[in-house]
Amino acid sequence: HVKQQGHNAIHFFDNGVNQQAQQHQQLNDGLRRAQSNGELFVQYQPRFDIDGQRILGAEALLRWLHPEQGLIPPLTFISLAEESGMILKLGPWALQQACTDAMEWNRNSPYPIPVSVNLSPRQLRDPELIPDICDALRVSGLAPELLELEITESVVIDDINRILGTLYELRDMGISLSIDDFGTGYSSLAYLKKLPVNTVKIDRSFVIDIPGNTDDESLIEAIITMAHSLRFKVVAEGVETRAQQAILKKLGCDELQGFLLARPGSCEELIELARNSHSDSDALSEILLRH
Ligand code: C2E
Ligand code: MG
Ligand code: MG
Ligand code: MG
Repeated sequence: HVKQQGHNAIHFFDNGVNQQAQQHQQLNDGLRRAQSNGELFVQYQPRFDIDGQRILGAEALLRWLHPEQGLIPPLTFISLAEESGMILKLGPWALQQACTDAMEWNRNSPYPIPVSVNLSPRQLRDPELIPDICDALRVSGLAPELLELEITESVVIDDINRILGTLYELRDMGISLSIDDFGTGYSSLAYLKKLPVNTVKIDRSFVIDIPGNTDDESLIEAIITMAHSLRFKVVAEGVETRAQQAILKKLGCDELQGFLLARPGSCEELIELARNSHSDSDALSEILLRH
């Protein structure tokens, strides 16, 4: 009987593993189809100055519109694509799309707005990364100064010796680098100082409970103070309320990204927003000039 049970248990376990592997396989096949069927697209979420007046950049965020399942969020497929290696196809596609769209909005915008593209750990270790980026810039015509790459803090910690050369090469090309989801890993800013990085993006999890959570407020304040002393720019992610904006301003944060100011949208929506944000500042300077 015991043996019988054990056998069943193993059988059951196998089924569970198989089922998951099968689901992963399906999702990966789906992704491959998605790319050739045009089910993937990129949205852009603007980043604003601390007062929310002017757009200073826009982050490219990958989307998958599945014909039956609807919109699938990146968190459910990026990590899988990372595991399977599919990200080495999706990543360069998203990069190319983002550069092409950034070229388009910069043609239509009264002032230059850079695009930020997320890079996955696997892309950073891919020898094709630099050639892919050169291709994306050349095909789109986008100036490297208008491209920013976001890398997560954990990548930096795990793989620093392997990727340091790549990071310097990107910097020398004129591309900016930012550290995404800052605060979720265990790296110190002093350590990041050794990297050719310009910006840290404070993770949404620190912003979500302010004002009120004094631990988070202190942490944010410490990050901002230290980041500034090392000449990093600080962006807060996931800003959803006026109260959060106000305290981030008080703590000296430079830029904001979040649903309060704008949700991710199409390239056309970004062009429209940039037009309005420009005419607002125009109107403001006209008023100031009259007085
Ligand atoms: P991330 O790079 O930290 O991007 C910010 C995420 O926060 C986005 O989620 C954005 O929609 C969301 N967000 C922005 N403001 C708010 C807010 O006020 N409230 C809330 N609740 N959320 C906000 P999204 O688009 O679902 O992307 C999730 C993650 O997927 C990204 O996190 C990034 O790590 C990854 N990702 C997205 N696109 C790409 C890509 O093209 N390549 C790679 N490698 N990763 C990507
Ligand atoms: Mg990001
Ligand atoms: Mg982030
Ligand atoms: Mg995040």
